[in-house]
Amino acid sequence: MRQREADVVEITSQYAKHMSTKEHIVHHAGDPDAWICLCRNEPTDYGFYPCNEQGEEVEPVSGWGGLYVCNRCGRIIHPDTLEVVGKAAGYGNPTPTVS
Ligand SMILES: [Zn+2]
Repeated sequence: MRQREADVVEITSQYAKHMSTKEHIVHHAGDPDAWICLCRNEPTDYGFYPCNEQGEEVEPVSGWGGLYVCNRCGRIIHPDTLEVVGKAAGYGNPTPTVS
């Protein structure tokens, strides 16, 4: 089980490097915009939203890095490579609240 904090750190450290262990989402054959997340979310289901490197939803305006977040599981997706570059907090597998 990977730690969420480690994923956040990897975003910047691995962004420009060769990646070997990163996840990639897929898309429907013949429609590169019809993404299918690893959690099975699709644009017509929960959808995907523009986000920053922390996975926080943002307006796709100047300064936006071009990333999208899966609105179901919180995976942060690079739209050109379909690579999962991180995981947003607050989606799926939430941090245990054991005190
Ligand atoms: Zn997902």
